[in-house]
Amino acid sequence: MWRFAGCGKGVQAVAPELSVVIPVFNEEENLPELYGRLTKVLSGTVSSWEILFVDDGSRDGSWEIIRGLAEADARVRGLRFSRNFGHQMAFACGLDHAQGEAVVIMDADLQDPPELIPQLLAKHREGFEVVYAVRAARHGETFCKKLTAKLFYRLFARITSVEIPLDTGDFRLMGKRAVEAFRRLPERHRFTRGLVAWLGFAQSGVLYERAPRHAGTTKYPWRKMLRFAVDAITSFSHVPLQLATWLGFMVSGFAFLYILVVIALKFAGISWPGYTSLMAAILFLGGVQLVMVGLLGEYVGRIYDEVKRRPLYLVAEEVGPGCKERARELPGYVAPSPGL
Ligand code: UDP
Ligand code: MG
Repeated sequence: MWRFAGCGKGVQAVAPELSVVIPVFNEEENLPELYGRLTKVLSGTVSSWEILFVDDGSRDGSWEIIRGLAEADARVRGLRFSRNFGHQMAFACGLDHAQGEAVVIMDADLQDPPELIPQLLAKHREGFEVVYAVRAARHGETFCKKLTAKLFYRLFARITSVEIPLDTGDFRLMGKRAVEAFRRLPERHRFTRGLVAWLGFAQSGVLYERAPRHAGTTKYPWRKMLRFAVDAITSFSHVPLQLATWLGFMVSGFAFLYILVVIALKFAGISWPGYTSLMAAILFLGGVQLVMVGLLGEYVGRIYDEVKRRPLYLVAEEVGPGCKERARELPGYVAPSPGL
């Protein structure tokens, strides 16, 4: 059953100057500190703002904290997914529902410092539609994570035509036009920073030092990280599919030369027992073919996901001003039967 609860009083009549969208997955230890630091920064920077928490199916006390904040402060809104749909879907939902003239998207663990927002906004006022935060340094992350991130961004830049600035995460500010354009991108396997780069418009960056996580542990284990990287590459590049063609040409060329050598040896009267080389060739080709079928499967699976046309996410609950009025527009919303 879908139900909306705990709505605050009074709808904000005009759009706030800034919305801050924050995906939350089991972040109860970070939310009070995040709220405190954000409100301090925002009060000194803009005249009106909203904080929009998107709870991605947390199993800890995160939603209760969000509800408490929304009840105490009319500038806080919360949307709660019906289950865990993923970080990138939470961004999609937040950007769908943000009402501000500009929108900042950031993580909940305080790795993206709220204190950078005034600089992002200043750059936006200079005329840049999108202002992203570039990591000059990353603290509190393992060597392996930093290395794989570095390699990934460089590989991505080589094999795709979208230009993602190196070493940027999702932390960024988007103007209203960019947000409206972003809402028109319906794809399922989402790589937000790539999609925003694809939008174009004037974009610029601001350098910052990425802090360690304030509390708790990463919600991106290696498995999710790898999936995310494959999503990123398959959404923006056909190069993996073309690999099969190139490998095919290479292996055929090699086989042709090999046949010439074997014929020449035959005429020279040299016999060459072929068991080992035959095994090696069969295993090599079998391996290459399976990898290519697997790559093809990655793309076919994504086509299948697209044609099913399921909603990107389902919202089970909303808290904050105006939530009852907006409830009908939420994807997946089913009106409660009379009397409930
Ligand atoms: N997150 C989310 N859904 C998930 C995983 C993560 O909404 O399934 C949120 C998480 O609460 C945080 C942000 O996404 O606000 C980034 O996650 P995390 O800090 O764990 O990633 P890392 O910085 O370690 O890459
Ligand atoms: Mg983090």
